Amino acid sequence: MAAKPPVLILLGPPGAGKGTQARMLEEDFGLVQLSTGDLLRAAVSAGTEAGKAAKAVMEAGQLVSDDIVLAILRDRMAQPDVAKGIILDGFPRTAGQAAALDALLAKAGQRVTAAVSLEVDDEAMIARVSGRYTCGGCGEGYHDEFKQPAKAGVCDKCGGTGFKRRADDNAETVRERLQAYHAQTAPLITHYECQSVLERVPAMGSIAGVRSMLAGIVGRVSA
Ligand code: AMP
Repeated sequence: MAAKPPVLILLGPPGAGKGTQARMLEEDFGLVQLSTGDLLRAAVSAGTEAGKAAKAVMEAGQLVSDDIVLAILRDRMAQPDVAKGIILDGFPRTAGQAAALDALLAKAGQRVTAAVSLEVDDEAMIARVSGRYTCGGCGEGYHDEFKQPAKAGVCDKCGGTGFKRRADDNAETVRERLQAYHAQTAPLITHYECQSVLERVPAMGSIAGVRSMLAGIVGRVSA
């Protein structure tokens, strides 16, 4: 019988590298990244009812209600590409979301394969997140201090010249987001520890170093 496609969760505060590493796992293993932050930002841009309700909450650095997030995630999980296996980036973020995910997977005869906690220092996250921006064309990430394009104003990857910054990537909102993480999301580490699927990864090092630790975990849990 073919192995079930992996369901991976990336846990960690804003700036821990969840999005960056999820995109790398897509490249390395052909998995599909599901970012509730990206889905919500798309809903805000499209001006849907969910997007209108979520906008101010996101700008304040707080968590959008479980009802809205779960509706968006269920729609996304109904798309056929998730059969390749998924990396959940930024979901679940509350105990209610974790329980809903367990129930959704159980219906399909599945369970979480691994929940990876990216372990970082809060203060460093404020500096990391406050200066970051991305290419509007290909999504490549940059940082005012740590990673500028080789040619100023031109994306190294696609040559694009339009860049964007998230409205919530400023020091004040990052502090709120860190608080929300510690109050509502960090307790999920214990939830997954109890399911014996938790993997802790020290994530203050290089992107390449974290990528290779994650590759080791994914290789092991999907074997
Ligand atoms: P992210 O892109 O994961 O940093 O998420 C950006 C913002 O979207 C968060 O600060 C929340 O306001 C909202 N958000 C994203 N995912 C969730 C979630 N699973 N539950 C509640 N709010 C979320």
